[in-house]
Amino acid sequence: MSKQPAIIIPEGCSKVLLHACCAPCSSAIVEWLLAHRIEPVIYYYNPNIHPFEEYEIRKNESKRHAESLGIQWIDDDWRHEQWLRAVEGLEHEPERGRRCEACFYHRLFHTARKAQELDIPFFATTLASSRWKNLDQINAAGLRAAEMVNRYPADSAVHEPVTFWAQNWRKDGLQERRNELLKEYRFYNQQYCGCEFSHREVTL
Ligand code: SF4
Repeated sequence: MSKQPAIIIPEGCSKVLLHACCAPCSSAIVEWLLAHRIEPVIYYYNPNIHPFEEYEIRKNESKRHAESLGIQWIDDDWRHEQWLRAVEGLEHEPERGRRCEACFYHRLFHTARKAQELDIPFFATTLASSRWKNLDQINAAGLRAAEMVNRYPADSAVHEPVTFWAQNWRKDGLQERRNELLKEYRFYNQQYCGCEFSHREVTL
């Protein structure tokens, strides 16, 4: 009996809007997608990152990575005030708690909206490659985001439904490949998750 592959390509998927949290987490996933003839379009939307200087460093690394491969890279704004409102009341939650759930949902809701706007039927996130994050929280956020934008489109145009590609992107050797690519590209290696609250936990 043949072994089931750990990464399952959704039926009909030849292009995906890939929410990139950072260049290191994107690298092995992008390589895998290209090797499997799936066109990735990178969407950089991470208004959670604080301070702005840190955001700029991570964003520019993601851009450098996409440019080195000649793939499309979409930048969205650093709407940190809007992100703070999305996690309001959850500032003192620990990592992997309810603040992170709200943070994932905020970023994936905007990714789903962008996929709908661009008529890209599938979206995924590199957040699901990090061993520091809760995969169930990420998948729940992505599925809810798809449901919300399909139910309440941003405009009156007719759109195909968008689907969240729920996937553990550490499988099939991608975790090891990520570590190799981190060194090959000499990516900036961040020391905390992103927001001021996670930064505080590290610096305490
Ligand atoms: S710790 Fe990371 S995932 Fe959690 S809220 Fe902060 S930036 Fe978002």
